[in-house]
Amino acid sequence: MITHQEVNLLVSYTAREGVAVSFYLNTDGTERSKGVWNIEAKDLIKNARKELETLTINRRYVEAAENSLKKIQALVTAENLAPRYKSIAVFANEVENFFQIYHIPVAVKSSLVLDSNFYVRPLLALLEEHSRIGFVLVDSRSARLFEIYMGEIVEHHEFATKTKPHKKPILETFMKREKRLMQRKEEETRFHLSSTAEVLRMHFALRHFDKVIIGARKPLGEHLARLLNRRLHDNLMGVIEADIHEKENEILVKVLRVEKENELEEERKLLRRIAGEIEKDGYAVKGVRNVIEAAHEYNLQTLAVAQDFSQPGLVCPQCGMPHYEGGTCVCCGESLVEVTDVIYDLVEEAARQGAAVRHIRGENLITSLENIASIIKFKRGELIRIGETAETEI
Ligand SMILES: [Zn+2]
Repeated sequence: MITHQEVNLLVSYTAREGVAVSFYLNTDGTERSKGVWNIEAKDLIKNARKELETLTINRRYVEAAENSLKKIQALVTAENLAPRYKSIAVFANEVENFFQIYHIPVAVKSSLVLDSNFYVRPLLALLEEHSRIGFVLVDSRSARLFEIYMGEIVEHHEFATKTKPHKKPILETFMKREKRLMQRKEEETRFHLSSTAEVLRMHFALRHFDKVIIGARKPLGEHLARLLNRRLHDNLMGVIEADIHEKENEILVKVLRVEKENELEEERKLLRRIAGEIEKDGYAVKGVRNVIEAAHEYNLQTLAVAQDFSQPGLVCPQCGMPHYEGGTCVCCGESLVEVTDVIYDLVEEAARQGAAVRHIRGENLITSLENIASIIKFKRGELIRIGETAETEI
């Protein structure tokens, strides 16, 4: 599982020496056979070799980058992916001994980029679309923490807490002892829940998760929920019934169910917001033609697209910009080529521009939004009008 720290490292990375090689391969086992992505990888690597030869950099850097490419090729050839992984991402810079491989359970477009920074946009877009969920499992004495991300689950064993059993009191009357035991038990549970909330807060601050779900027997879960600090409480996705010894795969099923419900709710909110903006001629557009136009103006903020929606269109082979119609690219002037699914390229372009992309699964409203719609950053002409007003005031 890719951690928040690793993402930070990749984003802030700049090669002091050598070439940063970023490689993405779509290995989606359900749709593409190994033969297909093997050939795709070979082509990407071949093109990268050609590009390397044209670069005016130190010979040693070129050789090192060649080695990175060789390693990537070997990795792809040897790869036998579990079906739940749909992409491989590799970030390498041989000169600085950097080589990171990630298996991603979501499909990304294959690409290979040589630069002094790692090409992390596709990865970031993907990370943004998925919440990192902390699942805290408690009983009256112990607590466990799991991190769930893009369908994978790991336990944070360092989190596991257990309050010590109390010493047996001696020389007390039976009644008195019973009463004291009850009190002590209650105190211990209180202490345990408070300290669990404290440790959770720390893990949250360290970005081990950005949403939290509590699993416990009633009424412990609700108690713990009340003890969360405000920011954590704002990110509480739900409290569910669960046993402290629950198995990882059972937890995963439960958590994914809660996540799905939450996503549907968020989708509903987003679509209502878009519909509202469109109604008042505000900051949103709908339909393939308008959304593509907004992409041409680098104006996409949050793109909502129906999960299985596809439509033929045109794409620039040079810069990748999707087009609804026309013969040449509005950005670079290259002749356009026809594609069977321009939506795929549009989503890629939106991610490349830094827009958030939401694939809509459940909501009916997306149909009235022509299956694709987007929140936009600016309305055409509004900033020019501001400029004009300012000038006339002078
Ligand atoms: Zn172009």
